[in-house]
Amino acid sequence: MSDAQSVSPSKKNCGDHHCGESRSQALEGIGGGSTGKWLEKDVPKSNWVCTNVKDIGRGKRETCEMCEKMQIRYVHKMKHNNYESLDVGCICAGHMEGNKFGAAERERYLKNRASRRKNWVNLIWKTSDKGNSYRKAPKNRDDPRSHVVIIPKSKYNTYSAFIETDGENEMLPGNRWFATEVEAKLAAFDYIWPPSWNQNVDPNGMVDENTDNEESK
Ligand SMILES: [Zn+2]
Repeated sequence: MSDAQSVSPSKKNCGDHHCGESRSQALEGIGGGSTGKWLEKDVPKSNWVCTNVKDIGRGKRETCEMCEKMQIRYVHKMKHNNYESLDVGCICAGHMEGNKFGAAERERYLKNRASRRKNWVNLIWKTSDKGNSYRKAPKNRDDPRSHVVIIPKSKYNTYSAFIETDGENEMLPGNRWFATEVEAKLAAFDYIWPPSWNQNVDPNGMVDENTDNEESK
């Protein structure tokens, strides 16, 4: 709602609530929104299926292609047999697939992931005999694989990531090296846990990264 011209006089006093969201929620009873493609006759309003959800990143926003109003960070890709794919926000997705809970759960998974990512670099990292930072990420309900991430330092003082997954070793794909350890750690996180949801992820299984206490014993 940053565009002042798009705000009607009746919505001037929004305070700090998200007026777009509030309006959509108020419209839940009638099964859709009041803007954009919700008003177009040839756009199907139900029987959509979500194929993927992506976190486009902190501070970034796209406009929902269904209501053409909401600014969204978590982009639900919706598929329909009789229409082109649309990238939409959580509320529109819930209406389109007739499952508000499912859409909310997918988004919760990605929000959880985003906070884990933010936390990742601040967790306790140990130092190997060679002087490299490393951290174990034990398997959990979300990820049945265990990982060890090691951050090697080059003679040019750049950093990359070495990732051991269930005993299989690999360097960060693309042979990427970074100016800082933090960047290398985040690249490893994104490689192991990509910023997207798909059917293989159980959104109820996501757990927070609170294993430090056990590990550092
Ligand atoms: Zn929308």
